[in-house]
Amino acid sequence: MDKKHDKVWQNCLSIIKDIVEWQHFKTWFEPIKPVELRDKILIIQVPSQFFYEYLEEHYVNLLAKTLKRELGKEARLEYRIMVDSGNDKNKPLTMDVPGHGFKTFSNNEMDFPLVVNNPVKNPFVIPGLKKMQIDSQLNPIYTFDSFIEGDCNRVARRAGKTVSEKPGTTSFNPLVVYGGVGLGKTHLVQAIGNEIKRLHSHKVVLYVSSEKFINQFQDHSRNNAINDFIHFYQMIDVLIVDDVQFFNRAEKSQDALFAIFNHLHQSGKQLILTSDKSPKDLEGVQERLLSRFRWGLSADIQLPDYETRMDILEKKMKNDGLEMPKEVVKYIAYNIQSNVRELEGALISLLAQSSLNKREIDLELAKKVLRNFIKTSSREITIETIQKMVCDYYNLPYERLLQKTRKREIVQARQITMFLAKQFTKNSLKTIGEHFGGRDHTTVIHSCQTVKDLMDTDGLFRESVVELQQKVQLAAM
Ligand code: ADP
Ligand code: MG
Repeated sequence: MDKKHDKVWQNCLSIIKDIVEWQHFKTWFEPIKPVELRDKILIIQVPSQFFYEYLEEHYVNLLAKTLKRELGKEARLEYRIMVDSGNDKNKPLTMDVPGHGFKTFSNNEMDFPLVVNNPVKNPFVIPGLKKMQIDSQLNPIYTFDSFIEGDCNRVARRAGKTVSEKPGTTSFNPLVVYGGVGLGKTHLVQAIGNEIKRLHSHKVVLYVSSEKFINQFQDHSRNNAINDFIHFYQMIDVLIVDDVQFFNRAEKSQDALFAIFNHLHQSGKQLILTSDKSPKDLEGVQERLLSRFRWGLSADIQLPDYETRMDILEKKMKNDGLEMPKEVVKYIAYNIQSNVRELEGALISLLAQSSLNKREIDLELAKKVLRNFIKTSSREITIETIQKMVCDYYNLPYERLLQKTRKREIVQARQITMFLAKQFTKNSLKTIGEHFGGRDHTTVIHSCQTVKDLMDTDGLFRESVVELQQKVQLAAM
């Protein structure tokens, strides 16, 4: 039974051999390995994507005819494409693709359904997929012009410029931009994407967060449409994947990223990635992916120094048509050192306060408003500290807290953690969300609200939260 695929394929070959020129037969048919016969579907393994495309283009009629002779009207063909031949550590990676070309095969005298009608679905929901219609998912406000260069980001920014001019053809492929939260990674890679679109309008650019990529992959996987997913991504000329640290432990999604990465890189397409750590320090990501991340250039972004902070503030004020006394700008730049996002946050709060109270911005107001942003004498509590405390309290492994799951205990523990992070740290909702696997600020708002509501209605829940609040408070002293 198990050798049946061999037999079917041998019979096909014996016919093909007579029809196809010897040289061509040797090139295109000998390397094919039959691997499985699943009902009326013969699966053949081919050495590469190119091989598969060539067969589909040139030999689809022949394959269809011969296979139908063997298996009858229902016969179908599927390809298993070798993406990576693997080594002693990693299993070979393959992907299965239905014989798309079969659908163009029409022959009245033998109208058998070799048609595999399985069009590639665009996970970004643009109907009737055409290459140029893919929306880049870029935010046009992120440009090079608004991205201030300083010692902290010079290498990354210049590499980004080079990549924008010549996507896919420099040695900066992939370009990996890494650094802490709020330091401008997303801004920079989006600026690269926008610039490429400006300079090379025919290139298909796509920006995707890792979280979105993983979610899409899981949806497609549930619907048995992984090939659609991979095919879609293989059409992109410039693929930007933000925050790859979130691939941590998403094994299957990593396999998909690996297949897509290889295909794009081989075809001279540009890959741009960001991460909160250097590729060598990323945990929970397969070594074979990490080694590819290191093929190109990894450039870090550091905390901006005082001069850069001044430049960023001044640029931002200029863009928004704002004015304030120089001493106030200096005061902000001097005191807010954590990251650029908080720097912007401080500026915005100050503006809000001044317009709310119809009061000119001066140093006094700045001091008052920024009190909330500036580290005070007591020990600083970080989001990580709170996450660890909640995990200890509920006896949860740290990774579980960040996992995508609907399990109630975990969802609740996570909501409480966000609530406490909001209460006890000076981080913005956005920053808090990012510490929870890249969730967005609305999720954080919702979590805080849920915790407040539950505290009102559920006594036991309230007790736990209060106990945790006390623990955090103690840790801060
Ligand atoms: P990350 O992705 O590293 O967490 P973002 O790219 O989201 O950080 O940046 C946070 C905020 O700071 C954004 O509003 C961004 O525009 C701003 N920003 C960061 N770096 C710079 C810079 N060098 N010049 C101007 N704005 C910056
Ligand atoms: Mg970001």
